[in-house]
Amino acid sequence: MNYFVGIDIGSTAIKITVIDENRTLMGQRISGSGSMFYKYAHQTLNDLLNDLNITKDEIVYTVATGYGRKLFKEADESISEITANAIGAVAAAKEYGEIKTIINIGGQDSKAISLDDQGNVVNFAMNDRCAAGTGKFLDACAMNLEIGVEELGERHFKATGTPLSINSTCAVFAESEIIGLLGNSHSVEDIVSGVHYSIAKRVIKLVKRVGVKEGIYFDGGPALNMGLVNAIENELGKKIFIPEHPQVTTSYGAAILGAESYAYQQQMKT
Ligand code: ADP
Repeated sequence: MNYFVGIDIGSTAIKITVIDENRTLMGQRISGSGSMFYKYAHQTLNDLLNDLNITKDEIVYTVATGYGRKLFKEADESISEITANAIGAVAAAKEYGEIKTIINIGGQDSKAISLDDQGNVVNFAMNDRCAAGTGKFLDACAMNLEIGVEELGERHFKATGTPLSINSTCAVFAESEIIGLLGNSHSVEDIVSGVHYSIAKRVIKLVKRVGVKEGIYFDGGPALNMGLVNAIENELGKKIFIPEHPQVTTSYGAAILGAESYAYQQQMKT
């Protein structure tokens, strides 16, 4: 059997997806990017292939994407995360219906991508200059509040009253603001919800730059945080779709593109 690998080397996490020739999802794995992207990407791939009982010879095409994609020199192809994200999102959202707008929040950036009726990227906007509105900001807030990032969602729903406003546009000042709110006896839950609404407002500004088209989809690690999802939906006044595994859709898109490139190359040979 032939298999295809998509490797997304993100600023915070490495995500790997393996699919077969029928585009069936065989398996996925996530590990921290750490300081040695290349080494960890190989380790993660080896571990995933071992788990799946697939040998390296059975991998016929590998596509690398993400911030550190150029470091994975063994890849047959490397593509931008915007393209991979769009392909993966369209495939992951098949049962949901057509998606026209993708919101992606990663470790160090956030993006809004606009798609046409065929699922092609027509426009995108990106924030990679400022930590506010990214996963790193959520990580720092969770750390200041002495809770895990995976607890943020649940805490959000326990907030009472009007969400607190976090006004600082810079992540460093926002962290000081959070410490100030703690000093003023505000609850962790109310602060968490305030953080989510401040990120939601930033992300919506980004989405407005490409145009808010119905069929809104959200992925990246922070899409696992249902509190953030709730804040974005409330601020937008629209429902958004979250795939089952939101952190791995970009690597899924890379694997799909790998299968397409391989099929095209085989066709050219005949
Ligand atoms: P990148 O592709 O830039 O490496 P990811 O899409 O992997 O980024 O997102 C990483 C971010 O996802 C982390 O910084 C963290 O804030 C968030 N995250 C990861 N796992 C969870 C979780 N279980 N619950 C909530 N947020 C999470």
